[in-house]
Amino acid sequence: MRILLIEDDELLGDGLRTGLIQYGYAVDWLKDGISADQALKTENFDLVVLDLGLPKLAGITVLQNLRTRGQTMPVLILTARESIDDRVKGLDSGADDYLTKPFDLDELCARLRALQRRFSSRADPLLTHENIILDPAAHTVTLNNELINVSRREFALLQKLLENTGRVLSREHLSQSLYGWGEDVDSNALEVHIHNLRKKFGQHFIHTIRGIGYMINKDKDET
Ligand code: CA
Repeated sequence: MRILLIEDDELLGDGLRTGLIQYGYAVDWLKDGISADQALKTENFDLVVLDLGLPKLAGITVLQNLRTRGQTMPVLILTARESIDDRVKGLDSGADDYLTKPFDLDELCARLRALQRRFSSRADPLLTHENIILDPAAHTVTLNNELINVSRREFALLQKLLENTGRVLSREHLSQSLYGWGEDVDSNALEVHIHNLRKKFGQHFIHTIRGIGYMINKDKDET
């Protein structure tokens, strides 16, 4: 799950970036409105955390530009406690949720999970496929009710695939959702994670679509 974090406060931004990475997100952090606007035009993100008070270009404009371009990913805005106007304007401009500063990282992550769930039209917080159950909140995966050890990347990759069953995800899309900018990525890193997931959960549940990417089939009883 790749997040674009847009926050000009060094201390808060650094803390959020570190915390979100610990929660298993790939995080790219930008500190002004113009570079955020540029990045959103050219890169894929699953979620956006947007401070409204930004240098160079206001957060609200970044948000309006994003929605004007027809980009639908969930956006959570960060606002100052006293500014009800900002919150109203933010929500009316296409934000999906907001938090007022100061806030708790656990709450931010819970809200991001809820946004992601709504965005993929899921009511159930658990992701289930055959005998695999992934719990995004507890950060656990079970196979036949037994806890399976997975790395942070394996977890993120499995979650992405399970949220998109029945759809082929390109290698590029998957890599982008696993790694932020500036992270050292081996060219075969994705293949290694897929290999490990197959070893842990069975050889056949992740399908290789040659030359394109990977897919998990929909369960038979899924519509
Ligand atoms: Ca700010």
